[in-house]
Amino acid sequence: MTSACASVLSPDLPVEARARDCEVLVAGGGPVGAVALAALREAGVDALVVEAAPQLPEDLRASTFHPPTLEMLDRLGLLAELLPQGLKAPVYQYRVRATGEVLAFDLSELADVTPFPFRLQCEQWKLTRLVRSRFPDRVVMNRRVVHFTQDREGVTVHLEGPTAIETVRTRFLVAADGANSLIRKWLDVHFDGFTYPEKFLTLSTPEPLEQHFEGLAYVNYVSDPRWWHVMLRVPELWRVLVVADEDMPDSELLADRTKERVFDRLIGKADVETRHRTIYRVHQRVATRFDHGRVLLAGDAAHLNNPLGGLGMNSGIHDAMNLAEKLVAILKEGADPEELLPRYGRQRRQVTQTFIQEQTRRNKAMIEAEEEARRPVFDEMARTLADPEKRRAYMLRQAMFASLEEAAAIV
Ligand SMILES: Cc1cc2nc3c(=O)[nH]c(=O)nc-3n(C[C@H](O)[C@H](O)[C@H](O)COP(=O)(O)OP(=O)(O)OC[C@H]3O[C@@H](n4cnc5c(N)ncnc54)[C@H](O)[C@@H]3O)c2cc1C
Repeated sequence: MTSACASVLSPDLPVEARARDCEVLVAGGGPVGAVALAALREAGVDALVVEAAPQLPEDLRASTFHPPTLEMLDRLGLLAELLPQGLKAPVYQYRVRATGEVLAFDLSELADVTPFPFRLQCEQWKLTRLVRSRFPDRVVMNRRVVHFTQDREGVTVHLEGPTAIETVRTRFLVAADGANSLIRKWLDVHFDGFTYPEKFLTLSTPEPLEQHFEGLAYVNYVSDPRWWHVMLRVPELWRVLVVADEDMPDSELLADRTKERVFDRLIGKADVETRHRTIYRVHQRVATRFDHGRVLLAGDAAHLNNPLGGLGMNSGIHDAMNLAEKLVAILKEGADPEELLPRYGRQRRQVTQTFIQEQTRRNKAMIEAEEEARRPVFDEMARTLADPEKRRAYMLRQAMFASLEEAAAIV
């Protein structure tokens, strides 16, 4: 009687999910938690996401999906619905602001390696929203993990809800709770690395930037020692990421004055509409260990890097897929957790160190270098572009195929 009334009154509302005991509890409904859930459910694991926020955020964060990530989303049956919500970007460009030089890499050349030889330019919230719509009874909003204890059989997790603390029991806890991960803090894991002194300012605009630059791609990295920037296209908007003065207060960075200065410098036009203005600090950090018994760190909870190259969210999704595969083997095939979970930690931590951290540091060093330092790097990249073999190897690396191969080889 009650449920019939409820469905008549609110036929379109998603099922209100409840926190409860389960095989795998995933803390955090960002892209990493969402993909972990989809991969575990695909294999029939009783998994649940608990998300601290009352609504999934729709802010402007990562917006590039690399080809291997698209393959993963395809295997999970998510890509068909995500693809039309983004833009296919086969070409990415490195530009030099002072000289106007352009180096364009075309992923179409990898069509023999992947069915998706392009980046998909698509906001990350479209993925999290899609996963929630697929599994409405498996994403519990408004539940923050506040504490947990683990023993030989499982993990007891305490969740803060709107009116009470709830306690649930799970066999494994996946910490996909983002950069400020409370779970990582409780584990007392070192999060070694550094924070860049400067701030990053992201502005989004419906202004057609492609009309101001000849041959602009959907993904463009523009070098300049004082004013490097990135221009990325998503379906309805351009996103402009610029480096900002660390000493300038946030209120000043978000003011119209700053926006006008940025666009005046970029396209000689200050009166430009913006839809989002975001400031954020960028870190290069990696947790000293990803696996902690039955508690596993993934995504931003485990590692952070600068956004140059679009590797942060993608590498987090690769963590989620790697970990889900091992949890499925443990829960469904009786594999040994003491063997597989440390392997997850070794595989993903090592590629984070050797590839993601290294590559993003190098990308930033190049884009911001002074002319004398940038010239040899840029010339080397031009030689790479001109040589079919080197160009292919470079694109396979940037597109993250190489890091997945490297991880798979680690035992
Ligand atoms: C402002 C900003 C701009 C960015 N721009 C870019 C970009 O341009 N390119 C790029 O590659 N990357 C970018 N990033 C990084 C990218 O967004 C992240 O790498 C990606 O979101 C990582 O996904 P995640 O699921 O690990 O963490 P998140 O997306 O942070 O998700 C974590 C989720 O966990 C929830 N949560 C937190 N604590 C708890 C708890 N205790 N219990 C339950 N739930 C909890 C949070 O509410 C959140 O929904 C940006 C990040 C920020 C902050």
